[in-house]
Amino acid sequence: MHDHPTPKPCPGPCNNAWRRAEAVLAETGTSHHLTPAWGQPTQCYGCRERALRQITELPELLTAVQLEAIYGTRPQNTATIHSRPNDTPAWPGQAARLLIDTLLGEMEELQADVLTLRGIWKADTQPDRNGVREGQRLTGACRILAAHLDWMLQHHPAAGEPHEQGNANPAGQIRHWHAAAQRFTKQHPQHDVRKLAPCPRCKGPYLAESRDLRLVDDRPYIECRDPDCRRIMTTAEYETYVKALAAVVTQAA
Ligand SMILES: [Zn+2]
Ligand SMILES: [Zn+2]
Repeated sequence: MHDHPTPKPCPGPCNNAWRRAEAVLAETGTSHHLTPAWGQPTQCYGCRERALRQITELPELLTAVQLEAIYGTRPQNTATIHSRPNDTPAWPGQAARLLIDTLLGEMEELQADVLTLRGIWKADTQPDRNGVREGQRLTGACRILAAHLDWMLQHHPAAGEPHEQGNANPAGQIRHWHAAAQRFTKQHPQHDVRKLAPCPRCKGPYLAESRDLRLVDDRPYIECRDPDCRRIMTTAEYETYVKALAAVVTQAA
């Protein structure tokens, strides 16, 4: 005797139109011809693919937000008409700091939830985060959530909830974090940061001209703005490094 569970419609945004049509059907009796995306068994394949892409992209987005928290700049599209004085952040990086604190809190909460539900952590496990840098905590949480993604999306007790913000559905939470970080980095583009070569130490795209006033031969330092790296070079050292990089690329071609 095989008990085949009845397929359930995916709770994700893929079924927004279908849910609307079902609501109209229930209210007015107007039938529709839409077929829902079915859960496999809970989220559909499309929602699973999207969650995987988003959790993979999150570390880089969050690093950009972290950089903004440290080297805060004003958003480019500052709307002045509707803003009240108390909408103005107390210091330039404040909005980024608040976002990082919120997202890191939510990510570590889901991480603890998943690891406890799956019996990897005991109910009273308190991770030792002494001396662990924030960047490591962010990437660590993303890595663990990615490793448990399929379980979270298909079997977490809240996996069947709609993806609305504030719900506990892990797929919806990942969507919300990704959207918040992406919205933020689009408002605060770090254009100047990405023009330079990758950092020789951390390989990240965060080398930039130093904003402090110390100069060597009338030229600014080149610094890595990744808060976990902070490699610093003179412009001459940077140019030597770029030449060496170019030579490697030419040889490989
Ligand atoms: Zn779906
Ligand atoms: Zn670096």
